[in-house]
Amino acid sequence: MHIDLTGKTALVTGASRGIGRATALQLAASGAKVVVNYHGQAEAASAVVRAIEAGGGQALVVQADVAVAEDVQRLVKQTLDSYGQLDILVNNAGITRDNLLLRMKDDEWDAVLNTNLRGTYLLTKAALKPMVKARRGRIIAISSVVGLMGNAGQANYAAAKAGLIGFTKSVARELASRNITANTIAPGFVETDITASLGETLKAETLAHVPLGRWGQPDEVAQLVAYLASDAASYITGQTFAIDGGLTMY
Ligand code: NAP
Repeated sequence: MHIDLTGKTALVTGASRGIGRATALQLAASGAKVVVNYHGQAEAASAVVRAIEAGGGQALVVQADVAVAEDVQRLVKQTLDSYGQLDILVNNAGITRDNLLLRMKDDEWDAVLNTNLRGTYLLTKAALKPMVKARRGRIIAISSVVGLMGNAGQANYAAAKAGLIGFTKSVARELASRNITANTIAPGFVETDITASLGETLKAETLAHVPLGRWGQPDEVAQLVAYLASDAASYITGQTFAIDGGLTMY
């Protein structure tokens, strides 16, 4: 299927690396103008913009911490000032601060909830205004299979990722009448910086539970994002899509 996003503007949070980077490149390759948000890695984010421009696309880099309300307002304003519209929001930015619950520090809990859940709340609320006005929009949250299954050592991450699923369903119900869809993608283990830090033993253990016998690639998630962002997905809302090599099938 050919996905055509010509004339659309997409904002991807955490687009400097990993799944966000692959998503920004995929959406641009499908014709969308892309706002590449990052937190700390300016050079990596600029490289994404350069790659999009080299492919004939249009992109803009904007630094913003998604957990900070003023940053989020500025991010959406810069998107609208530059491109005049916001059609696709991909809430991808995410962090981990793993610890067993008995040892978890309050700031580890707060950091993960603030970036992974509050960030999506702030961005979605800010993006809804132009989407409601235009009477169209696509909102996609990147959750995790950990939000479906839980994971020892990731109570903070699991709570945030499960929260995204309920949040997205509520947004889908509130905004359906305005032609705005909201869906969640729950990736399994995908090869990025976030999973690179896992030890070899843990990697081998997790792989044993993946029927397809390998980890996913960022591109494979990005293609699902592009589909959900397209007109082809116009009758899909409030859903959660696991993309995990079969890890969570039951
Ligand atoms: P990654 O390679 O570590 O990249 C994380 C991205 O998020 C970076 O672009 C980073 O920006 C950005 N970011 C972090 N904190 C931010 C903040 N406060 N404000 C704005 N941007 C922020 O991560 P990834 O593996 O691609 O993961 C992307 C998403 O997929 C996350 O939500 C993650 O939880 C989810 N996910 C990943 C996997 C996996 O196996 N990789 C599985 C399931 C779900 P800087 O580069 O500027 O720091």
